[in-house]
Amino acid sequence: MKIRVGHLYPDYLNIYADRGNIAVLARRAAWRGNELEVEAIGMNDPVEVGAHDLYYVGGGQDREQALVARDLAGKGGLVEAVEAGAAVLAVCGGYQLLGRFYRERSGAELPGVGLFPLQTIAGERRMIGDVLLDCELVPGQRRTLAGFENHAGRTYLDEGAEPLGRVLAGFGNDGESGSEGCRAGRVIGTYLHGPLLPRNPWLADWLLGQALAHRTGEPPQLEPLEDELEGDAHAVSAGRARSRGGRF
Ligand code: GLN
Repeated sequence: MKIRVGHLYPDYLNIYADRGNIAVLARRAAWRGNELEVEAIGMNDPVEVGAHDLYYVGGGQDREQALVARDLAGKGGLVEAVEAGAAVLAVCGGYQLLGRFYRERSGAELPGVGLFPLQTIAGERRMIGDVLLDCELVPGQRRTLAGFENHAGRTYLDEGAEPLGRVLAGFGNDGESGSEGCRAGRVIGTYLHGPLLPRNPWLADWLLGQALAHRTGEPPQLEPLEDELEGDAHAVSAGRARSRGGRF
């Protein structure tokens, strides 16, 4: 089956090799006989409801976020596409812009899409380093997520909003709450770069399952893969995170 991906602003929001996440999705889809079809969605490009099964947006410096924020917030279609069942993976700067707003250190406020029940305010000191999370996207299936964070933004989730995971090591959303990222149904936002998916194949498969569910109704049982190398990469990243704890 063809899995249609809308890659938002690949030319502006792509730090820490975030586009590597697309490569992992493409390879893991192909290993199960599915094909990933990726379409770039840039400035002034519309978001057509139903045209994509999964949207992806990477991270970026404040400067790049400022260049795309108004176009993204004004795009329309993304909220409707999600309401119609499309999945989303948003990383760091992209994650911030899917909330209500991102307030830079200068005080300038970048408008957000309002897809996530949260807002972000940049602080003085950057939160940098390896991160390890405890996640439970599927009830009863606890998994760890390992990655790297580098952000000035402090993200505050609304009361009752669901984080992606609990911080075992690192700063996460705000360096205090112990929560990281946000999850709203098939929509995932996180500060974890790395890129994220090569060392967390379970999340790549979860996203592929959600994207396929957008087409078929139900997430299919994807054939398990060996993932030896991925497991080693996860262990190394998790080990680094544990050794740092989470201090400035
Ligand atoms: N510019 C944002 C911040 O500093 C996001 C950074 C990023 O994407 N790594 O918080």
